[in-house]
This record gives sequence, structure tokens and C-alpha cells, in this order.
Amino acid sequence: MGCGKDGERAMLELENLNKTYPPTSGRAQGAVPEPALTDFSLNIKEGEFFTLLGPSGCGKTTTLQSIAGLEHPTRGRITMAGRTVFCSATNTIVPSNKRKLGMVFQSYAIWPHMTVFENVAFPLVHGHGGCPRSEVRQKVMGALERVGLHDFADRPAPYLSGGQQQRVALARSLVNEPSIMLLDEPLSNLDAKLRDAMRVELRDLVKSVGTTTIYVTHDQTEALSMSDRIALLNKGRLEQLGTPDQIYNTPRTTFAAEFVGSSNILKGRVVDVSGQRCTVQLAFGMVTCPVTGSVEKGQTVGVMVRPHGIAINPAEPNGANCFAGTIRQISFIGEFLDMQVAVGGESLRVFVNSYKTHRTGEDVTVQLPVDLCVVLQG
Ligand code: ATP
Repeated sequence: MGCGKDGERAMLELENLNKTYPPTSGRAQGAVPEPALTDFSLNIKEGEFFTLLGPSGCGKTTTLQSIAGLEHPTRGRITMAGRTVFCSATNTIVPSNKRKLGMVFQSYAIWPHMTVFENVAFPLVHGHGGCPRSEVRQKVMGALERVGLHDFADRPAPYLSGGQQQRVALARSLVNEPSIMLLDEPLSNLDAKLRDAMRVELRDLVKSVGTTTIYVTHDQTEALSMSDRIALLNKGRLEQLGTPDQIYNTPRTTFAAEFVGSSNILKGRVVDVSGQRCTVQLAFGMVTCPVTGSVEKGQTVGVMVRPHGIAINPAEPNGANCFAGTIRQISFIGEFLDMQVAVGGESLRVFVNSYKTHRTGEDVTVQLPVDLCVVLQG
């Protein structure tokens, strides 16, 4: 089995995946299709809950389907537990049903004319290779036990809540003891409240089973709250790879800062770099920022700070990165106030606790705390 950089075992390796779909008949004549994936590489560790996150059309499903063997990349290599399952150079293609995968898709397709037991038993009874009848009951009950539905085996599938149906789909994908689980937006058909509850439940369930899981979503809250690591995709390329904390708190690019969470992005020029700090000239003054990545004097950059990171009327109004501003707009959101504060010619979005009282037109001191400023690389 391959090893990740830090020595942990890689359960899944994607190497330089490229995918361009053939031109569709509706396309203008001669138009070359944009690639769905470009030089996309990843190493996913054993037992990891790994999320592919990005906007519609960025290549998430293409990646998942390539792992599943339902689509084939134009170029590249896919290795599972050390075994090459796809390689364009050697023309290796291991068929989908030989890849030891469990899959739950958006429309998780619980068959309404079957009981819970029959739904979960389906891949064992009808799958390739077959499973001796004596083992079916034991495997199905084991899978139902793992998702907490062992008392529901004989219930007709329609007599289940949306969340329970979701768990049946999960049990069905676990019943063959897959090495890797592929989940493609499995919560998107549930209503908002159930989706919130299922996020935690699904993550805990999957983690307790311990199967390596690749999860696809365009929902940043799902990605941040469920994942061990996230790959953020943009137009078929890897934009950023990291833990939820790294993706949220230290986005590398403007795209990452804007796609995940709310952000203020201020254009500026680096005027000094000294050790771990740099100084950036913004439209309304100089800010000190931590150095992340490569920052050079004279470089044009964006400085990002989250709306809840900005302090209003700090204890030390002459401290680092403090500026005079005026509140232009306040929206009461419940848990917080969403304010627009004019600073020089710029407008900053600031979230403060809603028990604070502020009014439109109020003059305030705004502080962009040094450690919460992020210099973006592009
Ligand atoms: P969504 O969140 O909307 O499902 P996605 O991130 O999963 O999007 P993909 O479905 O992988 O994105 O699509 C990536 C690109 O490839 C898009 O431009 C899409 O139009 C194109 N594409 C996907 N499937 C096909 C296909 N079968 N034929 C032609 N083009 C395709």
C-alpha cells in the first residue's frame, strides 16, 4: 500500500487525473469542451473522512465516478490499497464491481416495495459473485446493527422517516464490507432540519465503522463540520487541500476565501516583509499581516479578514491595524448584527454579538487583528 507524505497509509491515490468529455451534439461546431479535470492528484488515508468540495461543474462527480469506475479519466492513474484500478498508460481498467466500493448517491433509491431487510440484502443476493444464503442474514443484520436499525428489519421501507431511509441506504452500501465508501451529496434530498441532524449522525456513523469515505458536496457547512480533510476544487483543478480549520482560517486564494465562509477581501501592495510579518498598503492605511506562503515586497495581494474577526472599539484603540470608521448599515440576524462599516473609501462587513448596541451613523474604531488577517496568493 502506498504511503502519504507523513507516512500514513494511502488507501486511495489519484495521480494526474485528466478528463475531457467528448463534445456533445448541442455544442457549437468546432468548439473544444473544457476539461472536467486537469492534473488532479490526491492521496487519501485509510479511515479518513475526505470531502470533495466546490461549486457546480467543478468536477466533483467526475472524480467520484472515476473512483467508482463508472467513468474513465482521459489520462492518469488510480490506485486503491496499493492496487492499480485504472491507468491510462498501461490500459488497466478494473471494473466497478471489483473495486470493493460502497456507494450512496443523492437519490439514494430505497425500494419501496421491499422491507428494510430486503433492501439491504439486495447487493448480496443480486450482486456479482453471490453470497451463500446462510451468510446473508448475518451480514444484513450486522450492517443494520451498525446503523442502529436492527429492530426495523421487517418494516416496509416506506414506513421509515427520511433519516432512517438514509441509514438504510448506508447499511446497503456497507453490507459488502467495502474498502472505500463513496457518498455523493447524500443529504441533499432531506429537509433543512433533518439535514442538520443527519450531518452529525452520518459523520459519527461513518467514523465508527471506520471505512475510508469520500464525500461530495457543494455545501461548505457539511464539508467543514464532517470532514477530516477537504479538497476544494475550482474548474477541474485542486484549489486547496487541508483540514476544515486550514481551509476556513487560512484560505490560499481569493476563490477559497470567497467560496468558504463570509469574507472581506481588501486589495493592497506589500511594502515590507520582515520575518513572519509583512506590511500591506491598503486604500485606507497600512496593515500588518502574518506571512503565509511566499510574499514579496512590491507584490499586489488581497488581504482577507472574516467579518466576525473584526473588532469594534477595541480596548486599545491605537493598537496595530486600528482605523476610524462609520457604521453605514445594520441588519439584526438574531445571534449577531451584520454591519457595513465605512473605512476610508472601503466598506467592511462586520459581525458583532447582537447584545451589543450600535446605531447607523455611529463613529467607531475598527481593528483588523494581525493574526486574523490572511494574505491571499491569487
Ligand atoms: P454538480 O455539483 O453540479 O454535480 P460537479 O462538480 O459534480 O457539479 P461534474 O458533474 O463532475 O461537476 O462536471 C464537471 C464538468 O464536466 C462540467 O462542466 C459538466 O458540464 C461536464 N460534464 C459532466 N458530465 C458530462 C458528460 N457526461 N458529458 C459531457 N460533459 C459532462
